[in-house]
Amino acid sequence: MRSTEHNRPAEALRASLRAGEPTIWSKGEPPLPRSSPSLALTRLADARARFDRFAPALGRLFGEGSWDGRIRSPLRAYPIGADDRTGLWVKCDHELPLTGTIKARGGVHEVLQFVEETALRLGLVTLGEDYACLADARARTALAERRVGVGSTGNLGLSVGMAARAFGLQAEVHMSADAKAWKKVRLRALGVEVVEHEGDYADAVAAARARFQALGDHAHFVDDEHSEALFVGYAVAAYELAEQLEAAGIGIDDEHPLFVYLPCGVGGAPGGISYGLKAIYGDDVRCVFAEPVASASMLAALAFPGPQPTSVYALGLTNRTLADGLATPAASQLVLDLVGDEIDAVVALPDDRFLHWVGEAWAAARVRVEPSAAAGFAAWDHLAHVSRGADRPAYLYRGWARATHIVWTTGGAMLPDAEFRALLPSV
Ligand SMILES: *Cc1c(COP(=O)(O)O)cnc(C)c1O
Repeated sequence: MRSTEHNRPAEALRASLRAGEPTIWSKGEPPLPRSSPSLALTRLADARARFDRFAPALGRLFGEGSWDGRIRSPLRAYPIGADDRTGLWVKCDHELPLTGTIKARGGVHEVLQFVEETALRLGLVTLGEDYACLADARARTALAERRVGVGSTGNLGLSVGMAARAFGLQAEVHMSADAKAWKKVRLRALGVEVVEHEGDYADAVAAARARFQALGDHAHFVDDEHSEALFVGYAVAAYELAEQLEAAGIGIDDEHPLFVYLPCGVGGAPGGISYGLKAIYGDDVRCVFAEPVASASMLAALAFPGPQPTSVYALGLTNRTLADGLATPAASQLVLDLVGDEIDAVVALPDDRFLHWVGEAWAAARVRVEPSAAAGFAAWDHLAHVSRGADRPAYLYRGWARATHIVWTTGGAMLPDAEFRALLPSV
């Protein structure tokens, strides 16, 4: 297989994308010195503390007391072939509580922030106490006049809608044409108003944003293209991973770098996590974003910089992909501003690679992922086994053989059985 690689003139990159071929963009060599973080790290600490304050309420609302209310996922070793000298791990966000997707981090964090602000203003809680009482009917009734909205390809809507309804808020989810029917059914069953749009993700977000601008301050819009609250909700995951690596006795340093493979849509989830990881590990972590070729929005933004994030349509791409969670035509400007310089590489791959890894991860390790969430495996596999020789950006491969590699699986555990089975190779 021919693969087309990094640092080539823009025209060659564009041709490779348009042909639907695997395409790598990587940061130039030598890497620029890292600039100081533009978003205060205290914002990340605030978000961690907020998740802690809400854990008792989440435990009561979603776990009937049997869950501690912490939105965390396991880190598991992944079995790989004997010829692979490096260790491969999976950060299992497909098993996250609530929705089984990475959106349970960012989306839920933003709902919690709105609930907290509102509850403090209404005098339902005081800052610093434990918020278990927010699971009571009294609090839910008091919050019932407030409304939260979001535009989504599906998973963000699911996480925001579920969390908002649990706290008694009204919720309105604007879904793009990519959104899967079962997600709409599930949301409606929770009492969420689902508004369907003919267009793509960006259209759904724009329509929802315009509607919420007219609603006043009893309503809150979760803006996936501009939200710092989402971003820091994702970033908290970096500290969770650092604790898990330490507990597993895995040290990260210049000689033993960390590679993470992060599925990317608008970039909020992978961007937030990268932001946190770079704050912890500096240049010892390499953040590799994985995208469908047809929706290579982060690659488009980084390789073809402009006054606004370059749209995949402008490159002649379709934004049509099986990876519905990644079907976004343009990256988030906020993410580009906050971590654009820190993204080490973007690997854009055709959908069949993602489908292959849905089947492979299930067969080899009973890891149940949706196509979007298989993107990290496909990107690791591409860099480990397919990309060769002159194709290999030297900077990216520094320390490769002694590195710890972590594939971030971003969704899938809640996929209905029939949907999941339809993705597996027929036997
Ligand atoms: C949303 C999503 C992503 C990517 O998140 P962005 O913030 O859009 O980059 C990755 N995987 C899954 C399953 C998702 O739903």
